[in-house]
Amino acid sequence: MRCPFCHSPDTQVIDSRSSEEGWTIRRRRKCPKCGKRFTTYERVELAMPTIIKRGGARTEYTRDKLRASMTLALRKRPVPREKVDEAVGRIEQRLMALGEREVKSDRVGQFVLDELRQLDKVAYIRFASVYFNVEKPEAFAELLREALEPREKTDAAS
Ligand SMILES: [Zn+2]
Repeated sequence: MRCPFCHSPDTQVIDSRSSEEGWTIRRRRKCPKCGKRFTTYERVELAMPTIIKRGGARTEYTRDKLRASMTLALRKRPVPREKVDEAVGRIEQRLMALGEREVKSDRVGQFVLDELRQLDKVAYIRFASVYFNVEKPEAFAELLREALEPREKTDAAS
């Protein structure tokens, strides 16, 4: 790491400690040339893919948007916030595990469906009716029937 004061190319790490439960590492550094000290932080960079929307437009993945769409489906449902956080975390892991630079929003939607199905059936049906663009009562009934089936019957696709 280059010294920000004298721009000497090498500095020494004099202290290193992790913080935030191990998610970041803070390093105190010293420049052997000018003697000044400074701090750097090291953290994991989560390489989330770009999202391709149904219309073809590309948009940056944001956790807030994902969370907002889940929160909307979960409105007034008895699901604790930490459960939603965990679900968001699992969706992000699955997105990263795809190892792709761009991912269709439908794919993200499918991951959301998987999580909501586990979290809350009502929220699942709310989200799914939008996702599958359900308009007719018969299609809605079909969705309900499918949602209430035992998990293993519909798990083959994921
Ligand atoms: Zn220096």
